[in-house]
Amino acid sequence: MPNIAILANAVADQIAAGEVVERPASVIKELIENSLDAGATKIEVTVEDGGRALMRVADDGSGMDRSDAVMALSRHATSKISDASELVGVRSFGFRGEALPAIASVSELGLETATEDGAGTIVRSRAGSIVETADSARRRGTTVTVQRLFFNTPARLKFMRGARTEWRGISDVVQAIGVLRRDVHFLARHDGRLMLDWPAVSSLKARLADVWGVDQIARFVSVDDVQGVIHVSGMVERPADVGKSSRRVLLMVNGRTIRDTGIVRAAEAAYRSTLPAGVRPSMVLQIRLPGSDVDVNVHPAKTEVRFRDRWPLEQAVEAAIRRALGLPDASAGFGAGLWPGRGTAGEGNVPAIAAGPALDTDVLRQMPVAAEGLFQTVTDTEHATTGVQVVDNAELPDTDSGVDFSEMSAEEAVPLVVPRLTQFRRTYLVFEQNEGMVFIDQHSAHERVLYERFMGVLERGEAPSQRLLFPMTLHLGSREVEAFESNREALTRLGFEIEHFGGHSLFVNAVPMPHPRFDAARCLRETLATLTGDRLPGVTTHHEYLAATIACKAAIKSGDELSPAEMQALYRNLAATTLPAHDVHGRATIVRIAWDELDRRFGRK
Ligand code: ADP
Ligand code: MG
Repeated sequence: MPNIAILANAVADQIAAGEVVERPASVIKELIENSLDAGATKIEVTVEDGGRALMRVADDGSGMDRSDAVMALSRHATSKISDASELVGVRSFGFRGEALPAIASVSELGLETATEDGAGTIVRSRAGSIVETADSARRRGTTVTVQRLFFNTPARLKFMRGARTEWRGISDVVQAIGVLRRDVHFLARHDGRLMLDWPAVSSLKARLADVWGVDQIARFVSVDDVQGVIHVSGMVERPADVGKSSRRVLLMVNGRTIRDTGIVRAAEAAYRSTLPAGVRPSMVLQIRLPGSDVDVNVHPAKTEVRFRDRWPLEQAVEAAIRRALGLPDASAGFGAGLWPGRGTAGEGNVPAIAAGPALDTDVLRQMPVAAEGLFQTVTDTEHATTGVQVVDNAELPDTDSGVDFSEMSAEEAVPLVVPRLTQFRRTYLVFEQNEGMVFIDQHSAHERVLYERFMGVLERGEAPSQRLLFPMTLHLGSREVEAFESNREALTRLGFEIEHFGGHSLFVNAVPMPHPRFDAARCLRETLATLTGDRLPGVTTHHEYLAATIACKAAIKSGDELSPAEMQALYRNLAATTLPAHDVHGRATIVRIAWDELDRRFGRK
């Protein structure tokens, strides 16, 4: 190759087109973004044959005069920035001035535009060359029509998919932008059919209701949190509903829709210990941070951005979602908050079907944590020390007055009123509240309580342990013994005092005392057996895994009959957890059935 030559403009445009214009959806994206940059309040999209035959975007924005309209089709013509320094924190969608020429270079393009109602201009081009410039009458705004996309680039034409697939791509783009820009009225037609009509609305929730339907968004919880300069808001799926319908993820950073696996991973980390393996939550997140912390000019289609420091950002995302999921609003079922508390104002904190006030997490945080473990009202520890789990419920003193106050701070104390609880099927604790009936799964709830307690112990200190009158001997397989050895330290911290003199036997001198019917031998056996197996899905760190495993094995089971005092203790302790609504496998611990729902079933409403 003897000479280096500057590419002809037309060729350069086609190369640029390869980067910006991948498929019909990317054309629609660029055109809608131009309309938004022009200040449009209403944008109408028309598509024929999945965009393969025709795509048209019409807006009521600023429009262009004739010289600008001609100029807009030449490369790097932009009205949005004039030098590179303006790239930092740029607010418009476009800034490179390459979309229109790139699209024009691989299609037949018509640009009809007017800066005032009445006299306007139409410019037509073919494969990037202007073939006509004429007067036209139009209302203020711009209509760009793209026909025969890729007609002059057969290689790209071959890559176009069927009309339905391409339409789906277009529809995804319109959805993403529509959710982002709720202040704008969007309409779209495909092959003459009106596919969407979303009038301008003021809230994310209202727009999502139009885009996905009211039923869908009832499965979401609102997120809204500020950490330093980072504001994270949006809606995320309740853990109990994750995996029930197709997953949708929308990320918006400083008013742009982007893709970012790091942020999604941080968001998913917030669900840790609430989801079974293989399911991933849907989410719509809007993140605001200072423009100078984001570089938007790193991707040809601007679908990715670069953050100056992503660590605090990901932390903020995880914390915001975790806080949102800690709300009782995140529990499965219908109706309003479970525990009595202060109502919170603000969009989205109230579940879609709810009638009553939503809850503040602080109310749960301030709930008293019983000093002794759950069920430790029992005075006779003999049963537990022998590892035998039978305790006659009738012997348990019912000391509970039903009202309790935090020990930490008198002013902040919020009384926790324990409702009258009834055990059904030796499985569920059931009670009534203003809005409906509430079911608590006793095993799941206890598992959540123990999990959080064990995590606290592993991370913060020693657990009380109970010396056994007669040390137990456990005979195990070699894999279980190995599992013991590799978890020895953590087990000790949890309150197990175990000796291993080699061989396959362990001598257990002391055990933690989660409750009187705790069967230490069985719990240890099952825990060690599990620790040899595959990791518990959804739980990442070793401590979490261990805590989750022991919690599951140590928790009361369905079938265990509970005394009133035990039920109250369980309720109280569940209320004191950070994620009361979910057990460590992501199952619901709490299900609510609203009176409304019941009334509807009885035909009363
Ligand atoms: P960019 O958006 O990066 O500036 P484009 O090639 O997409 O580059 O557009 C070039 C220019 O054409 C824009 O800067 C803008 O001035 C003008 N333009 C494009 N579309 C519209 C529109 N719908 N309404 C008004 N002006 C537009
Ligand atoms: Mg543009």
